[in-house]
Amino acid sequence: MRCLKVIQGKKKVIFIFFFTVITLQVVFNNPKAQVPSKPYIQVRILETTDLHAKMLGYDYEKGKPTVEYGLEWTASFIKKARNEVPNSVLFDVGDVLVGNALGKYVSNTYLFNWMEMHPVYKVMNLINYDAATVGNHEFNYGLAFLMESLKGANFPYVNANIYIDDQNKYGGDDINFFNPYTIIEKKFTDSSGKTHRLKIGVIGLITPIAAEWDKETFYGKLKIKNMTETAEHFIPIMKEKGADIIVALAHVGLNADKGLKYKKGNSVYSLSKVKGVDAILYGHSHSLFPNKDIHSNLEGINVKAGTIHGIAAVQAGYWGNHLGIIDLYLVKNNGKWVISNSHSMVKPIYRTLKLKKIPMLSPDPTVKKVMEKDHIRVLDSLK
Ligand SMILES: [Zn+2]
Repeated sequence: MRCLKVIQGKKKVIFIFFFTVITLQVVFNNPKAQVPSKPYIQVRILETTDLHAKMLGYDYEKGKPTVEYGLEWTASFIKKARNEVPNSVLFDVGDVLVGNALGKYVSNTYLFNWMEMHPVYKVMNLINYDAATVGNHEFNYGLAFLMESLKGANFPYVNANIYIDDQNKYGGDDINFFNPYTIIEKKFTDSSGKTHRLKIGVIGLITPIAAEWDKETFYGKLKIKNMTETAEHFIPIMKEKGADIIVALAHVGLNADKGLKYKKGNSVYSLSKVKGVDAILYGHSHSLFPNKDIHSNLEGINVKAGTIHGIAAVQAGYWGNHLGIIDLYLVKNNGKWVISNSHSMVKPIYRTLKLKKIPMLSPDPTVKKVMEKDHIRVLDSLK
């Protein structure tokens, strides 16, 4: 237990900060969320994005721990958010392998030691992700390294718009490089306690700019197609295969194609207009959605509900500094599950009080444990 005294003007306010029991103070369930009157299923969709190999709250450049980022902190928020509701799923939206001394160390050494699993996946497997997609930085260390690394993930990786470059101009015979989508079947409990089997279709998409930034990896081997055209192609197929709801994992910014004719259709804004998309989890631009300071007056955005053109969306910052949460409320209409309403939010892992950064929950000790050996290896490599 730790106490902080904060003096605000003449008023003395004492904040008692229970380090170990602070979990009681953090509640994600939104009391203002309108829940449907008939039996409904609340599906909580959780997002991490742009983790950039920050598994631990540790700054390798400064050589000291930090409370500002690290999946070991976010993991406690994930646990908490899961425990509050009967049904949840967890996804990552890419850029996990590159971004600190850990990422670099693995790329320098593990290629010669195939028996080891990438430490990023030791942690992500522990936390139980349901699916993930690749970000542009996944290609920085080359294709061989990426594919070897992905073998460690015990959850599906999806991307629908990266294709093998077959060097012909005909698009009809193009082959996807990754599985374009996955359909996750789960048993969900409704508000009356009844269980139902629901199918969640998950599609992955990446900004075509990735091919321009990593020319060496892509040129002559892979090509990236338009995001919305790809979604329009695959979503009816996913629906045909029984997907009740469609979640898009989009490694692209909100407005990435604004005013750029040749990039049209490659943004979250454009994706939100694709028929059949129910929720968009996005990343890449290291921003937050919803955020009333940025999004209040933007066209098509309901910042309170966290929707874009009526579609639930979330962006969880970067390095695990926020957890993204979408609560979808589904009701059955004419035999089909439809979204009655939704609520999106981003939860920071710390708050700033009088310039001091105060963590909201304790870090997950199991993450530290699983990272122990690799963390020491990285520190040794920096000596
Ligand atoms: Zn990115």
